[in-house]
Amino acid sequence: MPKIKTKDLSKKLKTILPIHLLDLLRDIGELADKKKVAVYIVGGFVRDMLIGISNFDIDLVIEGDAIAFSKDLKEKLNAKLKISPRFKTAKLLLNNGLSIDLAMARTEFYAYPAALPIVESSSLVKDLSRRDFTINTLALSLNKKTFGILIDSFEASRDLKQKRIKILHDLSFMDDPTRILRAVRFEQRFNFRIDKYTQNLILAAIDKKILKKAEKFRMTNELILLLNEPNPLKVIRRMNTFDELDFIHPNIKFNKSLSKKIKAVAEIIKCYKKYCQDLSVKIWMVYLMAIIDDLNIHDLKEIFAVFNFNKKDKDILLEIKQTGGNVLEALHFIPVRKISELAELLKGRAVEECLFLINKSKKTGIKKMFIEYLVKYVNVKLDN
Ligand code: ATP
Repeated sequence: MPKIKTKDLSKKLKTILPIHLLDLLRDIGELADKKKVAVYIVGGFVRDMLIGISNFDIDLVIEGDAIAFSKDLKEKLNAKLKISPRFKTAKLLLNNGLSIDLAMARTEFYAYPAALPIVESSSLVKDLSRRDFTINTLALSLNKKTFGILIDSFEASRDLKQKRIKILHDLSFMDDPTRILRAVRFEQRFNFRIDKYTQNLILAAIDKKILKKAEKFRMTNELILLLNEPNPLKVIRRMNTFDELDFIHPNIKFNKSLSKKIKAVAEIIKCYKKYCQDLSVKIWMVYLMAIIDDLNIHDLKEIFAVFNFNKKDKDILLEIKQTGGNVLEALHFIPVRKISELAELLKGRAVEECLFLINKSKKTGIKKMFIEYLVKYVNVKLDN
C-alpha cells in the first residue's frame, strides 16, 4: 500500500472555486452523507484546480453503489442521467453545462495486455492506483466531516510542483498503450516533462509495437483528443520523437512542410472561431486532413483499419482525397468574384472540408471571402 498524504484544502477551496461550484460540491457531499457512501472528486478537476486552470468536468469516485448514487443525485440536481451498466459508470448533465461522471471505486484486471478492463469493486486508493499518471491520482473528499481534504497517495503534489508526467507502474503502457498518447498530450498541454524513466518505458513499449495492439475505440478517442488540444503541432512534434507518427500511418513524414500545414490549419481555425457561432466543427478532422495530405486513398483506408471513425467522418475524409483536388483546381481557374459563386463551388461539402480546402488554396483574397461566406451561410443556417 502506498504512503498516503493528506492536506486540508477546505479554506483554499473557498478562494479558488466559484461559489456555484463550491455549493454543488457541498450538495454532493451532503447527499453522500445521507446515503452513507464516501464520495471523492478525482483526477483532472483536482489536478487543474491545483495548477490554477478551470475544469468543468467533474469526475466522482464513490465508495459504494455509484449507479444508485447517480440516480439520487439526478433527482437532487434535476439533471440528465446516462448510465453505462457494462462499466458501472454514470454521467450527469446539468442545466448549466457542467458534466459529472460517476464511477464506483474499482480496480481493473486486464485479461491480456491492451484489452478492455474488467471492472471489480474495491476501494479509493486501489481505484487511483490503476490511473495513468501520478498527477491524475489526486482525490478530494466531499463528505461533510472531511470536506476539502486532499488525498495524495502517489506523490502527485510533488510531481505537479516539479511539472512531471510519471506512470504508476512499469507495465502501465503494456496494459494500456493509449497512455503513450495521453502522456504526450498532458506533457505538451501543461509544459511539463515526461520523466526519464517513463520516457524509456514508452520507447520500450513502442519498440514492441504495442500501439498496434491498442484497443481501436480508445486509440480513436485519444487521437481525437490529441488533435483537439489547443496546440496540436506541439503534441504531433513530440509524438514524432517517439514513433515517427507511425501510430497514425508509417507514410506520414514530419517535416517542415507538414509543420507549415498544421500551423496554417491553426490560423484558419482561429479565424473560424472568431467569426462563427457554430462551434460544432470537428477541429481534429481539419488537422487530420493536413497530417494525411500527402497520403493516398490506400493509405487512408489503412488508417481506417486502425481507428474506428464513424461513417460520416470517414466519408468526409475520403471525399477530400477523391475530389478535393477538383475543388482546388476550380478555385484556382474559375474567377470567384462573389460569395454566392464561392458557395456554389463548396456546395454540399462539410465545413471541415471547406476549411481545409480554402486553407490550401493559394488564390489571393479567397480566405477573406470564405470568412464572409461562413458568416453569411453557416451562421444563418444556425439561426434558422
Ligand atoms: P482532460 O483535461 O483532457 O479532460 P482528464 O484528466 O480529465 O483530462 P479524462 O480523459 O477525462 O482526462 O479522464 C479522466 C480520468 O480518468 C483521468 O484523470 C485519468 O486519471 C483517468 N484515465 C483516463 N484514461 C485513462 C487511461 N487510459 N488509463 C488510466 N487512467 C485513465
